Amino acid sequence: MKKAIITISGGIDSTTTAAIAKSKGYGLYFLTVNYGQKNIEREIENTKYFAEYFNAEKHKIIDMTWLGELGKSGMTDENIKFDTIHDDLIYVPFRNACILSAAIAWAETDSDVEKIFIGSEAGPWICPDNSPEFIKAMNQLARVAMKTNSNVTIEAPLNDLDKPRILKTAIKYKVPFEHTWTCVSNSKKPCGICQPCRNRRESFEKIGLKDPADYES
Ligand SMILES: [Zn+2]
Repeated sequence: MKKAIITISGGIDSTTTAAIAKSKGYGLYFLTVNYGQKNIEREIENTKYFAEYFNAEKHKIIDMTWLGELGKSGMTDENIKFDTIHDDLIYVPFRNACILSAAIAWAETDSDVEKIFIGSEAGPWICPDNSPEFIKAMNQLARVAMKTNSNVTIEAPLNDLDKPRILKTAIKYKVPFEHTWTCVSNSKKPCGICQPCRNRRESFEKIGLKDPADYES
């Protein structure tokens, strides 16, 4: 059976991407990266749930905490608090290139891997490493740099869908929203204030669906 590596955080985008890969007949290899994000405990808990839910054949949780140690991101720096103005705090310098590099390296070690899937959504991009230009550039890099299994390609199946359309896609694939975690914080309840929380809430409202997340405020 052909395999696909899914970069997965346990949010709606990456779990929907996993559902799409599964529907295409791929055996799933999950890759979760600890880059020092504040919500890593929630991400690990939720991605483990989804590894079982989607019957993933492998689930690697790898350490890249050095990325967070470099600082300058609200995702990783405990001293930087989210507000409703500075949405670009969610950007982590060069994160997705690092994560996809790990996925490419894994793909080189396993000739069954045909695809790498990432859950990048449509623009406008706060994080340029979610854009189609970036995905294209990483594919070009893979072509040049890979020595083995070099037919592997990277796909971002949600790259032309905004969040409301991703939610509709997630519903189609029966993604259990109650097990997804979107918030950048590690608290028991999602904050409701950070950019990902607000984007999620607004998107559920737009499509007239109740968000199962129990927000702090
Ligand atoms: Zn939040």
